[in-house]
Amino acid sequence: MEKFHFIKNFLGMKDKNIIILDVLDSRTHKKIIAKLDYPAPNCPHCLGQMTKYDFQKESKIPYLECAGYKTLMRLRKRRFRCKVCGKMAVAETSLVKKNHQIATIVNQKITQKLIEKVYLSLLRQSFVN
Ligand SMILES: [Zn+2]
Repeated sequence: MEKFHFIKNFLGMKDKNIIILDVLDSRTHKKIIAKLDYPAPNCPHCLGQMTKYDFQKESKIPYLECAGYKTLMRLRKRRFRCKVCGKMAVAETSLVKKNHQIATIVNQKITQKLIEKVYLSLLRQSFVN
Protein backbone atom coordinates (compact mmCIF):
# COMPACT_ATOMS: atom_id res chain seq x y z
CA MET A 1 0.00 0.00 0.00
CA GLU A 2 1.10 3.56 -0.73
CA LYS A 3 0.89 4.68 2.90
CA PHE A 4 3.05 1.80 4.11
CA HIS A 5 5.53 2.40 1.35
CA PHE A 6 5.89 5.95 2.62
CA ILE A 7 6.46 4.74 6.17
CA LYS A 8 9.09 2.28 4.96
CA ASN A 9 10.95 5.10 3.20
CA PHE A 10 10.53 7.37 6.17
CA LEU A 11 12.10 4.82 8.47
CA GLY A 12 14.91 4.15 6.01
CA MET A 13 14.03 0.50 5.60
CA LYS A 14 15.80 -0.55 2.48
CA ASP A 15 15.03 -4.23 2.59
CA LYS A 16 12.41 -4.87 -0.09
CA ASN A 17 11.68 -8.27 1.44
CA ILE A 18 10.10 -6.63 4.44
CA ILE A 19 6.42 -6.11 3.88
CA ILE A 20 4.53 -3.82 6.22
CA LEU A 21 1.11 -5.29 6.93
CA ASP A 22 -0.25 -2.73 9.33
CA VAL A 23 0.70 0.27 11.43
CA LEU A 24 -1.03 0.65 14.75
CA ASP A 25 -1.10 3.96 16.57
CA SER A 26 -1.29 4.17 20.30
CA ARG A 27 -0.91 7.21 22.50
CA THR A 28 2.64 6.31 23.47
CA HIS A 29 4.06 4.50 20.48
CA LYS A 30 3.63 3.28 16.96
CA LYS A 31 3.57 -0.39 16.26
CA ILE A 32 4.57 -1.67 12.87
CA ILE A 33 3.39 -5.14 11.93
CA ALA A 34 5.57 -6.58 9.21
CA LYS A 35 6.77 -9.79 7.66
CA LEU A 36 10.01 -10.82 6.07
CA ASP A 37 9.62 -13.16 3.13
CA TYR A 38 11.45 -14.05 -0.07
CA PRO A 39 11.83 -17.04 -2.42
CA ALA A 40 13.47 -20.07 -0.83
CA PRO A 41 17.28 -19.93 -1.10
CA ASN A 42 19.68 -22.87 -1.19
CA CYS A 43 20.43 -24.69 2.06
CA PRO A 44 23.35 -23.15 4.00
CA HIS A 45 24.33 -26.64 5.19
CA CYS A 46 24.17 -28.88 2.09
CA LEU A 47 23.30 -26.35 -0.67
CA GLY A 48 20.17 -28.35 -1.47
CA GLN A 49 16.95 -26.64 -2.54
CA MET A 50 14.90 -25.31 0.32
CA THR A 51 11.16 -24.73 0.39
CA LYS A 52 9.05 -22.22 2.25
CA TYR A 53 7.93 -23.53 5.59
CA ASP A 54 6.06 -21.40 8.11
CA PHE A 55 6.67 -18.09 9.84
CA GLN A 56 8.74 -17.78 12.98
CA LYS A 57 7.15 -16.33 16.09
CA GLU A 58 7.30 -12.55 15.73
CA SER A 59 10.30 -10.73 17.11
CA LYS A 60 9.96 -7.31 18.68
CA ILE A 61 12.41 -4.83 17.27
CA PRO A 62 12.74 -1.43 18.92
CA TYR A 63 13.11 1.14 16.20
CA LEU A 64 14.04 4.78 16.01
CA GLU A 65 11.85 7.42 17.49
CA CYS A 66 9.93 8.76 14.57
CA ALA A 67 8.27 12.17 14.78
CA GLY A 68 8.39 12.02 18.56
CA TYR A 69 6.91 8.54 18.73
CA LYS A 70 8.62 5.46 20.00
CA THR A 71 8.38 2.90 17.28
CA LEU A 72 8.27 -0.82 17.75
CA MET A 73 8.31 -3.28 14.91
CA ARG A 74 6.85 -6.73 15.17
CA LEU A 75 8.52 -8.74 12.47
CA ARG A 76 7.61 -12.27 11.48
CA LYS A 77 10.37 -13.99 9.60
CA ARG A 78 9.83 -16.71 7.03
CA ARG A 79 11.32 -20.11 7.82
CA PHE A 80 12.67 -22.40 5.14
CA ARG A 81 13.13 -26.15 5.23
CA CYS A 82 15.68 -28.05 3.18
CA LYS A 83 14.23 -30.75 0.92
CA VAL A 84 17.50 -32.70 1.07
CA CYS A 85 18.77 -32.63 4.66
CA GLY A 86 15.63 -31.36 6.41
CA LYS A 87 17.40 -28.55 8.27
CA MET A 88 15.62 -25.29 8.91
CA ALA A 89 16.78 -21.76 8.21
CA VAL A 90 15.25 -18.36 8.99
CA ALA A 91 14.97 -15.50 6.53
CA GLU A 92 17.58 -12.81 7.11
CA THR A 93 17.49 -9.08 6.77
CA SER A 94 20.14 -6.39 6.95
CA LEU A 95 17.77 -4.49 9.21
CA VAL A 96 18.57 -6.76 12.12
CA LYS A 97 21.93 -8.36 12.71
CA LYS A 98 21.83 -12.12 12.93
CA ASN A 99 20.73 -13.29 16.40
CA HIS A 100 20.14 -9.71 17.51
CA GLN A 101 16.79 -8.15 18.20
CA ILE A 102 17.92 -4.55 17.98
CA ALA A 103 17.71 -2.91 14.60
CA THR A 104 21.07 -1.92 13.13
CA ILE A 105 19.96 1.68 12.78
CA VAL A 106 19.25 1.86 16.54
CA ASN A 107 22.74 0.56 17.23
CA GLN A 108 24.13 3.27 14.99
CA LYS A 109 22.15 5.90 16.86
CA ILE A 110 23.42 4.65 20.25
CA THR A 111 26.99 4.69 18.95
CA GLN A 112 26.49 8.22 17.67
CA LYS A 113 25.18 9.36 21.07
CA LEU A 114 28.23 7.87 22.78
CA ILE A 115 30.58 9.62 20.38
CA GLU A 116 28.79 12.93 20.98
CA LYS A 117 29.13 12.45 24.73
CA VAL A 118 32.84 11.71 24.54
CA TYR A 119 33.33 14.62 22.17
CA LEU A 120 31.50 17.02 24.49
CA SER A 121 33.47 15.95 27.54
CA LEU A 122 36.71 16.40 25.58
CA LEU A 123 35.59 19.90 24.59
CA ARG A 124 34.82 20.74 28.22
CA GLN A 125 38.21 19.49 29.32
CA SER A 126 40.00 21.61 26.74
CA PHE A 127 38.15 24.67 28.06
CA VAL A 128 39.25 23.92 31.62
CA ASN A 129 42.88 23.50 30.66
ZN1 LIG B 1 20.21 -29.06 3.35
